[in-house]
Amino acid sequence: MTIDNIKEEIKKAKDIVILTHENPDGDAVGSALAMYLALKKLNKQVDVIIPEYSNTFNFLPGADEIKKEGKKETYSLAISVDVAGIRRMNGFAKYFEDSKVKIQIDHHRVNEMFADYNFVNPDSPACAQNLILIIEKLGVEIDKEIGACLLTGIITDTGGFKYEGVSAETFEFTSWLLTKGVNVSDIYKRVLQTKTKANFELRKLIMERMEFIHNNKITFTYITLEDEKNVGAMPGDHEGLVEVGRDIEGVEVSIFLREIGEGNFKASLRSNDYVNVSDVCIAFNGGGHLKAAGCNMVGPLEQAKEKIINEVKKYIG
Ligand code: 5GP
Repeated sequence: MTIDNIKEEIKKAKDIVILTHENPDGDAVGSALAMYLALKKLNKQVDVIIPEYSNTFNFLPGADEIKKEGKKETYSLAISVDVAGIRRMNGFAKYFEDSKVKIQIDHHRVNEMFADYNFVNPDSPACAQNLILIIEKLGVEIDKEIGACLLTGIITDTGGFKYEGVSAETFEFTSWLLTKGVNVSDIYKRVLQTKTKANFELRKLIMERMEFIHNNKITFTYITLEDEKNVGAMPGDHEGLVEVGRDIEGVEVSIFLREIGEGNFKASLRSNDYVNVSDVCIAFNGGGHLKAAGCNMVGPLEQAKEKIINEVKKYIG
């Protein structure tokens, strides 16, 4: 079984690198650090590489050991967490590709199965929830520190325990963490409730620009590089903006475009009931989940906007 192979490969590995996706959210950073701390407990030589992430996650145990690049060129084992396709690793995919053995742990329904061992369980609402099983299999006790990292992944990817993928196991694990002394309320506040000033300013902008299309079933909004510069945005400050449109009564799909390079945009989509936004994004070589997905779009803005709206309309009927 994959999980046995994973245990075996970790046992054999001389040195290990842990990687996640670009623009890492709480599940990406939380899962990567949980794995890192677990491997440290096994006395493994391990690096966790995340070139850029939100300051929000600096409070997590192990965060000060995150590296921007590897200490070495090649590792004997690479483990990716929360990555659906190798292109999503961007600049740091080389560490994955160059390592002797490759393992991935993920929860995206559409996954390119790009590793030697693919532990992909799409029924899990967060990659972090999949890691509970792996870490237990490794014989590592999930302590307060690892628990805080896993809970960060679960809270962020379930929108605070409210999305459909939440299972009895999600609550059982959280309740168990409480008995271990993990401050669930504090983590919730830090990773979900508290907004930066720049995020608030961007929120005002996207609300002002929000367009209601197709009988108010689609919302569209965007931010540019200049907007981010004007508000002094830091990595992660755009998080949650796509949800503003999704949470309006009657809206089925919220579309949010964010300029990521001169004339290039990242599209984030969210749906409420019946539109599979992962399918919409696959049309542009992206992917994600049924109700939360993304893709890259070539600009200019008006062209990217028209293309993505037209694709969404096909699913709204
Ligand atoms: P977000 O809108 O928060 O950036 O992403 C929502 C979901 O879609 C996440 O699960 C994320 O991993 C996935 N996603 C975002 N962009 C891409 C992409 O370009 N390709 C793929 N395969 N998945 C993406």
